[in-house]
Amino acid sequence: MQVTMVRPRGFCAGVVRAIDIVDIALEKCAPPIYVRKEIVHNRAVVDNFKERGVIFIDSLQEAPEGSLVIFSAHGVSPAVRAEAKARNLKVIDATCPLVTKVHLEVHKYVRDGYTIILIGHREHDEVEGTTGEAPDKIQVVGSVDEVATLTVPDPNKVVCLTQTTLSVDETKDIAAAIKRRFPNLVSPTKDDICYATQNRQDAVKELISHGMDLLLVVGSRNSSNSIRLCEVARANGVASHLIDNASEIQPVWLENVKNVGLTAGASAPEYLVQDVIKYLQGRGATVNELEHIKEDVSFALPRELLAMTGASTPV
Ligand code: SF4
Repeated sequence: MQVTMVRPRGFCAGVVRAIDIVDIALEKCAPPIYVRKEIVHNRAVVDNFKERGVIFIDSLQEAPEGSLVIFSAHGVSPAVRAEAKARNLKVIDATCPLVTKVHLEVHKYVRDGYTIILIGHREHDEVEGTTGEAPDKIQVVGSVDEVATLTVPDPNKVVCLTQTTLSVDETKDIAAAIKRRFPNLVSPTKDDICYATQNRQDAVKELISHGMDLLLVVGSRNSSNSIRLCEVARANGVASHLIDNASEIQPVWLENVKNVGLTAGASAPEYLVQDVIKYLQGRGATVNELEHIKEDVSFALPRELLAMTGASTPV
């Protein structure tokens, strides 16, 4: 069995930043430290922080007045920010700057009188935060079929934005369906799917073009960009499984398989990928690596963290 790991895989710049924020807060701030929602959608990352004393909460009501709360990488709505202020919470915002960019686009288009169609998954934390910027001006669509159900006050003032972690191909199809319904649709020059999502999907496409029988994706069940990597493989006729770690690999998946591709979602730590490699090597696999593209993206830490802790942005 030959295993090919692909790069880029695993942590993106937004996840590195969010994890750094919690690490620095743990080191420099007095406990307790609360994090609203999962800091990133990965079970191992969240469990590790829980073991180190971080308290994860779904609602700000769970944090006592005046305590320190970190907002997750997926972003929050203005209502959540207002609630934090009203309850005198000390906030560090770990929202990925590329999610913040979508929030700012919402503001711009609402100011200009547009109805916003947001392509995304309603139940995802990011979409909840983005729609919260203008709940009565944003409609969410998750499939081509849903486009038929849209009604807007002015079909000539419609703009299409996207969640950052979608399937590049599926999003194109939905955007084309929206354009057919609203021919004067405004689309920003580039969709909002982030560089990390795009690169990981493109890397998987290149990987499976080399003839994979199976793609293993390290990532958690609630990680949107990880799920999309499995979908890319399946859409191209390659079997694929999403696994949190090596213990979830079922030996039956490997029967009669010669070429296994391996990648990881943007929130999955590299040590989990290496554990998968060790497991497969234990079954006689040889391993090589394919680099699709080099990534060189990093984001500065939030000012409030620097002010609170005196920490500096890592270089
Ligand atoms: Fe930011 Fe993209 Fe990473 Fe999400 S996947 S945290 S949007 S860089």
